[in-house]
Amino acid sequence: MSESTNMHVPSRPDWNCKAPGCGEPWPCSTEKAALLETFKHARLTLRMYLASQMQEAINDAVRFPMGVDIEFWPRFLGWVPPSMRPSASSPEKPSEHGPAGRRTDAARERPSRSSAA
Ligand SMILES: [Zn+2]
Repeated sequence: MSESTNMHVPSRPDWNCKAPGCGEPWPCSTEKAALLETFKHARLTLRMYLASQMQEAINDAVRFPMGVDIEFWPRFLGWVPPSMRPSASSPEKPSEHGPAGRRTDAARERPSRSSAA
């Protein structure tokens, strides 16, 4: 983890990136990349961190209404990709088709997909 002073932090209460020349809605693309790198083995921790940030942003939005309709969930949490499981270490993964994978299976077994015999 590069410990260079991260300037891509949110300014409050508007929650735009503070870094000079950035100013994107936080988390900005630079911060997202940094977060993914920092939490690449702890995606759940990343989500918890972002959820807490989102809660702060919601608190600010309530306290300092700016007439901006922020879509909190997509902005703070929706961009996080699904957990990356270390796939190289285990060739056979018995738990791959857990509850999370069932949706894909159901979609794949649609009758319309099967060619008429
Ligand atoms: Zn930034």
